[in-house]
Amino acid sequence: MNLFDVYPLWDIEPVKGSGTTLWDKNGEVYTDLYGGHAVISVGHCHPHYVKKVQEQAATLGFYSNAVQNSLQKELAAKLGKVSGYDDYALFLCNSGAEANENALKVASFHTGKPKVLAFNKAFHGRTSGAVAATDNPKIQAPFNKTENIVFAPLNDLAAVEAELSKGDFAAVIIEGIQGVAGIYEPTTEFMHGLRELCDRLSVVLILDEIQSGYGRTGKFFAHQHYGIKADIITTAKGMGNGFPIGGVLISPSIKPSYGMLGTTFGGNHLACSAAIAVLEIIENENLVENAEKIGEYFRQELSTDKAVKEYRGKGLMIGLELNEEYIGLRNKLLFEKHFFTGAAGAGVIRLLPSLTVSQETAESFVKAWKELT
Ligand SMILES: *Cc1c(COP(=O)(O)O)cnc(C)c1O
Repeated sequence: MNLFDVYPLWDIEPVKGSGTTLWDKNGEVYTDLYGGHAVISVGHCHPHYVKKVQEQAATLGFYSNAVQNSLQKELAAKLGKVSGYDDYALFLCNSGAEANENALKVASFHTGKPKVLAFNKAFHGRTSGAVAATDNPKIQAPFNKTENIVFAPLNDLAAVEAELSKGDFAAVIIEGIQGVAGIYEPTTEFMHGLRELCDRLSVVLILDEIQSGYGRTGKFFAHQHYGIKADIITTAKGMGNGFPIGGVLISPSIKPSYGMLGTTFGGNHLACSAAIAVLEIIENENLVENAEKIGEYFRQELSTDKAVKEYRGKGLMIGLELNEEYIGLRNKLLFEKHFFTGAAGAGVIRLLPSLTVSQETAESFVKAWKELT
C-alpha cells in the first residue's frame, strides 16, 4: 500500500533527536527551530519526559474514561496552577482540532445558540466544525461548509459588533496569535473591546492557544499579554511534546452535564504522563522566561536585518516576512546550514523552537542567517 499523497515532504528523515538537535538516517546533523509545528515544547527526548513516559508505559498505558484516572486530576491541577486558570475545568482530548470542536460544542450547548464568528486567515484545524471556522477554502470540503460560521477581519471591532448584533451567536473563536496565517497579532485594544462585546451580548469567547500557548510567547497563554480572560481556552501542540493530547479549559460559569462530551483515547494514562512531565519541565527550568529572553534576542538581531521586511510575533512565536529578493532563504537555511524552520507561504519564515532553546543555539542561527543574507 502507498501513502495517501497529501504532504509536501522534504527528502529528509530524522531518526534521532536530543534537545534542538536532530540526526537524519544518513547521520547528518540538523538544528530544529521549528519543533514540528510548535509541538516540541521541551526539546526532543528530554530525559525527564522520557523517564516519565517510559515508567507509565511499563505501569498502565491505557484505560477508558469509564473509570477514575487520577493522572487526569494531577494534570488539571498542574495546568490550572501554571496557567493562572485554577478555577477552570479541563476536558482532555487528542488533538487541536478536537479541542476546538469540543469548545464550539460546549459554547453552543451553554448558550443554546448555533452561530460562531471566526476571523479572516484563521486556522482552527481540520475536523468538520474546526475546518468550517478556518478561513481557507482549499482545506474545506463542501460537506464542511455551514452558514452558522461567519468571518470578520482581525482587529476590526466594528465589523465584529455588526455581525454579533444580528443575534444567535454562541461563540467567537480567535487565536492568541494567528499562526498558520503567518504570525498576526490582535491588538490589546481590540482584545479588550472583544471581551466587552462578548460579555454584553452573552457570547462565549474562545481563545485558540493551540500554537500560541504553553509558554511559547513569554506568557503561558498569548492572550495573557493583552490582560483579558477567556471563557474557553483550547490547547494541544506543545502540551504533550509530541505525544498526541489536547485540552479544553472551561470557565466555571459553564456547567457540564453527564455525557455532553466524550472520547475513547482522550486523557489516557500515557498522554497524561507526557503532559505532566512537560509542565514539570516548563516549571523547573523556567522555560516561559527563557522563551521571552531568547525571543528578545532574535528580535534584536533580526528585526532590523536587511532580508526582513517585517518581524512579527512574541517570544518564540516568530514570523519573519522576507523582502522579495530573499524568498529562497528558508531552503538555504535548511540545505546549506542545516536549520529546520517553518513557513507561511513562500514569503514568511516561522520560528517555533523548543522553549529550551539555548542562547548559543540562537546565536548560531543568527550567524548562519547573516552569512546567507
Ligand atoms: C495546529 C493548530 C490547530 C489544529 O491542531 P491539530 O492537532 O493539527 O488538530 C488548531 N488551531 C491552531 C491555532 C493550530 O495552530
